[in-house]
Amino acid sequence: MAEITSTQSKHFLSDKVEHFTESVIREMTRQAMLYNAVNLAQGFPDFPAPVEIKQAAQEAVAADVNQYAITWGAKNLRNAIARQMGVWQGISVDPEKDITVCCGSTEAMISTLLAVCNTGDEVVIFEPFYENYGPDSVLSGAKPKFVKLRPPTEAPGEWTFDEKELRKAFHRHTKAIILNTPNNPTGKVFTRAELELIRDLCLEFDVLAITDEIYEHILYDCTEHISMASLDGMRDRTVTINGMSKTYSVTGWRVGWAVAPEKITNAIRKVHDFLTVGAPAPLQEAGAAALSLPPEYYTKLAEGYRTRRDRLVPALATAGFRCFQPRGAYYVMTDISAFGFADDVAFTKHLIKEVGVAAVPGSSFYRDPRDGARQVRFAFCKKPETLDEAARRLSKLTFRKA
Ligand code: GLN
Repeated sequence: MAEITSTQSKHFLSDKVEHFTESVIREMTRQAMLYNAVNLAQGFPDFPAPVEIKQAAQEAVAADVNQYAITWGAKNLRNAIARQMGVWQGISVDPEKDITVCCGSTEAMISTLLAVCNTGDEVVIFEPFYENYGPDSVLSGAKPKFVKLRPPTEAPGEWTFDEKELRKAFHRHTKAIILNTPNNPTGKVFTRAELELIRDLCLEFDVLAITDEIYEHILYDCTEHISMASLDGMRDRTVTINGMSKTYSVTGWRVGWAVAPEKITNAIRKVHDFLTVGAPAPLQEAGAAALSLPPEYYTKLAEGYRTRRDRLVPALATAGFRCFQPRGAYYVMTDISAFGFADDVAFTKHLIKEVGVAAVPGSSFYRDPRDGARQVRFAFCKKPETLDEAARRLSKLTFRKA
């Protein structure tokens, strides 16, 4: 056998994977476990999921719904998704032709991008952005084009974008815009006027909207969630992504979906089929039960999160953080300038090791780490006692001169 020297051997890795790093959010969870820190980094609830849906999952397993579901989703779940999109957003959806159930909205997003993007296509993304969108674009061959969301200069205020900057990001190579409302990490809820502006650009430049609406029911201060697909002219050029994780507190179940016009759905279904075959069958049955919960469930969900927000945000402010009040989702972005650390990474390291609280460094939500160097994100989807323990620990933080 010929001897292979190390210089002869290929390096065995795809160039694509060299263009992104592992998720910082998920790394922070591992660090939190290592240092026994209160985990306000990754956005998953530490409280129980609703009894009704756990029971529905147990019953489905007991009834032997244990083999593959239909590749693009169990009929009961697709029917429930179509029904609820009609009830909540007035969008008419054909459960046979328009829905692909995936392993979480994470898979729905990457399957969509793989299904619609060609090499060289551009995808417009507002930043700060949920970190998956970066690698998702790279893996699908698309080039992300970032448009800034700017924090409010005075409290209370909203994150805003510059209309001219957004317009400049659109041109003939633009394939899609990724929109996340309510937004992670900023908590921004896009208004109808903002969505209409984006809609007009999508129509003018023949661009697809891919909207991640996973936090649609987590809203505060009388804000309203508006689905892009409900706007005039957008039904045929929108992929709406959603899932069970956040609305029903089951992030580990990995059940999400993409709703799109038939032609795009056919492409998404093909990618999904060969990526994962299907999402867990018994959990899809439980999903149908979850989507049948009464309207009070959603009112209580939002109210529960408002209480948690109003518990953590003042505690952070007292500890020295400048907080950007979220209007939706379950994160708060903060400014850490008052602590005088070199950057967000140095600060979160100190926080986890010396203070015992895990958070996500702001830089992981930006293409250029310098843009997030003074920001840190906290998740408040936690039990009151978890938030109180975090507050107790955070009160040990001391201000430093920069
Ligand atoms: N959405 C959650 C966050 O931003 C985590 C999602 C994930 O890790 N898949 O923290």
